This record gives sequence, structure tokens and C-alpha cells, in this order.
Amino acid sequence: MDASRQQDLAEQMAMLRAVYMARLPAELAELQALAGGLQGGEGDRPSLEALYQRLHKLAGSGGTFGLAALGAAARVLEQRTRVWLAGALDDGYAAARRAFAAELAELVQWVVPGAGERATPSSAIPAAHAAHAPDEAIQVWVMEDDVALGQQLVRQLESFNYRVRLFARIDEAERAAQDEAPDMLIMDVMFEAEGRNATQALADSPALRALGCPLLFITSTDDFESRVRAARLGAVGYFLKPIDIPRLVNRMGQLVEQLSAPPQRVLVVDDDADLAAHLCLVLRAAGMVAEVLRQPETIMEALAGFQPDLVLMDMHMPRYTGPELAGVIRQHDKWTGLPIVYLSAETDLERQIAAMRRGGDDFIIKPVSDAQLVAAVRVRVERARQLADQINKDSLTGLLKHASIKEVASKEIRRARRTGKPVTLAMLDIDHFKSVNDTYGHAAGDLVISALATLLRQRLRQSDHLGRYGGEEFLVVLPECAGVDAQRVLDDIRQRFANLRFSYDGQNFSCTVSAGHATSRHAGPGQEADEALAAAGDADLLAAADAALYAAKRGGRNRVCAAARLPAAGEVPA
Ligand code: GH3
Ligand code: MG
Ligand code: MG
Repeated sequence: MDASRQQDLAEQMAMLRAVYMARLPAELAELQALAGGLQGGEGDRPSLEALYQRLHKLAGSGGTFGLAALGAAARVLEQRTRVWLAGALDDGYAAARRAFAAELAELVQWVVPGAGERATPSSAIPAAHAAHAPDEAIQVWVMEDDVALGQQLVRQLESFNYRVRLFARIDEAERAAQDEAPDMLIMDVMFEAEGRNATQALADSPALRALGCPLLFITSTDDFESRVRAARLGAVGYFLKPIDIPRLVNRMGQLVEQLSAPPQRVLVVDDDADLAAHLCLVLRAAGMVAEVLRQPETIMEALAGFQPDLVLMDMHMPRYTGPELAGVIRQHDKWTGLPIVYLSAETDLERQIAAMRRGGDDFIIKPVSDAQLVAAVRVRVERARQLADQINKDSLTGLLKHASIKEVASKEIRRARRTGKPVTLAMLDIDHFKSVNDTYGHAAGDLVISALATLLRQRLRQSDHLGRYGGEEFLVVLPECAGVDAQRVLDDIRQRFANLRFSYDGQNFSCTVSAGHATSRHAGPGQEADEALAAAGDADLLAAADAALYAAKRGGRNRVCAAARLPAAGEVPA
């Protein structure tokens, strides 16, 4: 996480603490009023119950916000009320209640005034990007002493939109590593000129080791010993010369996907607002996106709006219990796979098991350390995502499967209708693909398919959606992208694809791709949404893109065509 984000979080923590501190005097005054009103008999039960709940909260939050002494003192008083509530409110209670009220009045001494006063942090406004630029390029270092081969590799990787730096000497890379760091390192195992072994250089060089990025080896020797050495150094790829570029790039694509996985999203359900806010900040400090559910009644709306990867659920809340809310979530098919983890002080095993039976996945016992909480959440989200990927994503390309990409397309079209911003759908189909299969074999064909997938992933934005629509057919959904921008980026992809050289069994070949795209027409500011778009269903936009693809094929292939304008409602299509 960068320094400014850390700073931002630190400021938020301070703010939260300031809010808490500001509210404390009123809270303590209310506690005193409750204690002062105790009469000394059974009639005190409701007030004692309220005192117990509030002291319990105070005991938890005091420590969290750095007022450990206040928390400890509140804990002592909380326990006293609990003992009273468990028995009869008899004469013993009546005698002790005054001392209790006096002690409670003294809690105020543990509040340090003036703490947590900080300026309001300026809210960060995310920069809007209008043009259809791919996200920031991934920085790759290539360490290769065969300069000609290195330069060739650089050119190829650049065509996949990687930013590449070539180092012909190990010490040059060591020097550069002191000032900057790549996202990925590709390294020749043997540096002939220097008589130095890259694996030794890595082992010897703290600067290179400290890079900590994914490491891929390229080599002309394929013996077991070398592979083991590479594995020991944490290499995540091992490629033999002559390098099969599509295979290398495919592997790099997978790594990029891991590097740029969207932040994990956690919905916190806890009635203790201070604790919930604290949990959120801890999760955010770990790079996650966290939100608190304010009203349990709106949980389904919150899930739909926030789209969490995981729900962190309190067990005991005033109106509904955690297991009850989990039960409601599980009534909806869409959310049967959502991990629900209870975070609770519940230590009773039977109750834990009962809660799990009601749709929970796991139990974290309070108190939990920040590191423990983050680790527990992270592993569960990763596993849930892996599972979802297996269901929704195509195994060859890692792109969305047919049904999933169609669903995404519908969703984006609906959104475009709401926001009045354009959305473009594009269909791509590899040209004369049957002959690739027939000439070079099915495996070569697979490689071509995955190379195009990688190229799409590399050239398009994070916010775009990519799907493998059929065998060698792709559907991409470009939100907030006008037709001219789509034409430009698709044509760029087309050219880069045509320039790729595939080698299979010593034979070189290349392929081309055709594409068609259609854009929803949108309303300008203050205008009514486009009538044609409003009337056109999802199928119409998809059909328009498909027709454009057909036009590209008919026009001679290796080209990108835009769809003809959608007919307006009532207009007879030409
Ligand atoms: P056109 O330029 O008109 O698109 O010609 P084409 O040869 O590409 O025609 P078509 O789209 O009909 O051919 C698709 C071929 O793709 C047929 C099928 O055998 C092959 N194919 C489909 N899925 C896969 C796959 O996963 N791997 C491989 N290697 N081939 C596949
Ligand atoms: Mg084809
Ligand atoms: Mg086809």
C-alpha cells in the first residue's frame, strides 16, 4: 500500500477515535443517570439490563480506542451487573447499588481529554479517465546477455503491452534495483559473458532478492538439477529456448491476473458501531474494501449493492441474531456460495455448531488480533474466489464462460440505460481457424486461442469484461466506451495479433482475427435516454455486434467493423 493511503487510513483511525472521544461524555452521563435511577428492587431489572449492555460495549471499545484503563474499569462494572441479573435483586443488591453508582461516576477519570483531535482528511476523488486507455502497463525486466535474443523478446512482450527493460549485465540490474522495482522478472539462467550463473547472482545479491516480484527463468538447459535450483529461488516459470512466446505470455498473463486481483470486499455486520468501524479500518489497512451494515433489515440490498466476497457476522445483536440473518441470506440462490464467518465471543461449542448449521461457514472467536482477522478473512476469500472461477471461467483462457459473459453484458446494458453512458459489445472470431487446427494440430490451435485471450486482457481496461463466447469466438463488453474508442482499441488488438509469430514443431505461422462491435446510443445531459436503446433489448445489441462481425468476415477478414446504427423505435430497419 502506498504512503498516502497509509496516511489516509491513519487519519481515518484518528477521526474515528475523535468521534468516539466526543461521544464518550454523553455516554458516561447516560450511564450515570441509569445508575442514579436504581431503586434497589426487582423493578431495576430493565435498567440493569441496559447498564449491562452498555458497559459490555464500553469494555470492548475502550481498549480498541486506546483507553485500556477505561475498558478494564467498565469490564469490572459489567460483570457486577451480570451477577446481579443472574440472581434475585435482594437486600444485598440494594446495599451495593450505591457504591456501584459511585464507581460508575468515576469512570470519567479514565477519559483523557483532547485525544484524537485531527483535521478532517480531504476526501480522495478518483480521477475519471475518458479515453479508452488500458490500465497502467506492467513493468517487466528481462535479464539476458544474448542481446539480439533479448531485444527480440522485448519487442514481442511490448506488443502485449508490457513495459520492458532489458539488462545485458547482472550488475546493471543490481544497480537499477536500488531505485526501482519491476512487477515481474524474466531471467536467463546462464550469463556466458560474465561466467556468472543467474541463480548464484540471485542468491548473492540482496538487491535482486529484495525485488520480491514473480520470477521466470529462460534457459537452454533442461536438467532436473537446474529446475530444482529455480524452484528453490521461487521461480514461477521455466521456459526453454527457443522461447515459445505465446506460452510465456500466457503464463505472464496468469501472474498479472494474480497481481491485479481486485481488492477483497468484506461486509461487517455488528451492532456495536465503534467495533464495526474499527474492524473496517483494520481490513482496509490490509488493502481490502470493507463496509458496515447499518440496518439488518436491508441486508439483501446491501449484498446486491456492495457485492461482498465475505460477510463478517456478529452472533448476538439486539433484534436479529447472526444465524437468523445468515438464514435469510441462504434463502437466495445467488448467495449460497457467499462465505459467512461469525465473529463472536460465543465460546459455547453447541451454539457454535447450531450457528454453522444455519448457513455460517466458520467461527472466529473474539477477541482476535488484527493480523489473525486479516489472515482468516484473506484465505477464505481466496478460496471462495478460486471456486467461483472454476465455475464461471473457461480453463484454457481464464476468461468468463458463455453464460457468464452474457449475463455481464445484460447487466452492463441495463446500467448504460440507467446512467445514459454508452456501452460497446464486441464479437471477435479468429480467421480460418479450422485450417490452423488441420495444419498444426489442435494443441497449436489452443495456443492461438490463449494468445488472443492474453492480448485482450493486456490491451483492455480492468473495468472491461472478457468472455470466451465459443470455440475461437470472444465477446467483450466495454462499459463507458464510445464506438470510435472501441474501433481504435479493437483495431490495435487486431494488428498486434496479426504480428504475433507462433511456432509449433519448428514451423512458424501467424493468424488474424476479425471483429464487429455495436454501441448503445446514449442520452446527453438533460436529454431523454435514446429511444432506440430503450426499445432495443440485450439481444439486439449482441445481434448487431454479430452482424458487424459477419460483415468483417465478408469484407475479407482481418478487419474491425462497426454495426450499422440501431433503428429507432417504430423506424423500419433498412
Ligand atoms: P472463419 O474465418 O470464417 O471464422 O473460419 P473458421 O475456420 O475460423 O471457421 P469456424 O469459426 O467455423 O471454425 C471454428 C473452428 O474452431 C472449428 C473447431 O474445430 C475449432 N475449435 C473450436 N473450439 C476449439 C478449441 O477449444 N481448440 C481448438 N484447437 N479448436 C477449436
Ligand atoms: Mg473463425
Ligand atoms: Mg467461429
